[in-house]
This record gives sequence, C-alpha cells and structure tokens, in this order.
Amino acid sequence: DRPDAILETRSLSVHYGGVAAVDAVSLAVRSGEIFGLLGPNGAGKTTLLAAIAGAVRSTAGEVRFRGEPVTALRPDQLARRGMARTFQITRPFEDLTVEENVMVGAQPRCTSLGEMRAQVAELVDWVGLGHKRHDLAKGLSTGQRKRLELARALATRPVLLLMDEVSGGLDQPSVPALIELVARVRASGVTVVLIEHNMRIISELCDRVMFLDRGRQLAEGAPRAVMAMPAVVDLYLGSG
Ligand code: ATP
Repeated sequence: DRPDAILETRSLSVHYGGVAAVDAVSLAVRSGEIFGLLGPNGAGKTTLLAAIAGAVRSTAGEVRFRGEPVTALRPDQLARRGMARTFQITRPFEDLTVEENVMVGAQPRCTSLGEMRAQVAELVDWVGLGHKRHDLAKGLSTGQRKRLELARALATRPVLLLMDEVSGGLDQPSVPALIELVARVRASGVTVVLIEHNMRIISELCDRVMFLDRGRQLAEGAPRAVMAMPAVVDLYLGSG
C-alpha cells in the first residue's frame, strides 16, 4: 500500500475483443497533486480514465481509491465516495439553465433546498459563470460549457476529479483562464487527474505525468523529464 496515494491502479487492463486498450497500467496518485495522462491518439488515456471511474469494465487488475478496492463499483457508487469526472465532449442538459444543471450535481449532497441554492450560486460564481446563471446551457460557448461541466462535477463535492481533455476545443485566448481555474480546484483541496495534449498546460499544471502508448505506460515522472525522453519526443513528433 502507498499510504499517501488517494488513487492507485495495479496492473489495470481493459481489452476490447483481442486488443488491450489499457495494458497492465500501475499508477499511484498522491493526495493533493495534479497528475497528467499524456500520449498519442489511441494510447488508451480515455479508456484508463473511464475504467477508474467505473464507466468501463476492466478485464484485469485493480483500482484502489482512498485505500479501498473499488474495481467493480459503478460510477454512481464512486461518486458517493468522492470521485467526479468531466468529459471531453461536454454534455449538459441543453434546455436547463446553468444553475439548474449544477443543481443536478448538488442535489444528492444537500439536505435542504436553501442549502442547495446557496451552494449552487456560489459554485457558479466560482467558475466564472455568475453572469450566465439563468442562461440555458445550449447558448453557452465551448469555454463556458467546460466551466459549467466543472461546476457540475464540483457540486458533488469530490476529493478526486478526473478531467478529460481540459483544453480540447478551446480557442487559445480561453486557455490561461482555464489553467488558472484547474489550479484553483487543486488549491481548494481536490486531487486532479487530467488528460491533456497541450504541453504548456501539462508543464504549468501537472506535478507528475504518465506517458502512455498503445495501452502501456512508457514513462512517468516530472513533466519536463518525461517530455525530454527520446521515446516520448519521437512519439509526439511522429503523431504530429
Ligand atoms: P485520444 O487521445 O484519441 O482520445 P486515447 O488515448 O484517449 O486517445 P482511447 O480512446 O482510450 O485512447 O482508445 C484506446 C484504444 O482503444 C484505441 O485503439 C481505440 O480504438 C480503442 N477503443 C476505445 N474505445 C473502444 C470501444 N468502445 N470499442 C473498441 N475499441 C475501443
């Protein structure tokens, strides 16, 4: 056991038919850190995140969360234990307002309507959507949708947040504010595991990273060290 690890996978594998999308990956994420998953397209990053979150069934190995085995648990059971996830393609309820969408995340954790309203209002402000609180989700920009997704996930009061493609789909000017927001999430005490392609974001945000290729863990360590490894450089240049 790694006593300071909030999340561990031990030889975790996910097979689709005969193909190992995730191949015996072992990682240990420490409480309070931002841990990045990187690698070329098809490396298995999203599948690994989905297996951790209970959305995809692993075929071998183990997931441990807060010191307990959670391999067979469903996403809703993991959510109750403090794990939340945001998606590459955001999927809010389009015809609900920003606040109503965040209420969906907050509702199971709140004991009264007043408490829920107050928390939702605070979270919506916190992610920078206060001026949009009564707008329908379908009218939001990509960056605003990402913030909404984040607020919805944080409303479940997670201790661990899994984020897929933090900057994906964002225009360049929107990126720094999002980096700052993820840094604030961590500063608020939430451990973060994220998938990200943008090297600047990786090196600014992540304490440690794991580089995956064809389901296997190729390297692990501080972002700069991993990104300087010849095999990693080759794969990134090779994938464009
Ligand atoms: P990207 O950066 O493109 O999102 P990724 O690193 O997240 O890639 P995954 O999406 O996890 O990679 O895919 C890993 C491998 O598993 C790929 O070869 C992919 O084609 C395969 N795969 C993913 N989902 C399925 C599925 N539902 N059925 C069959 N194969 C799948």
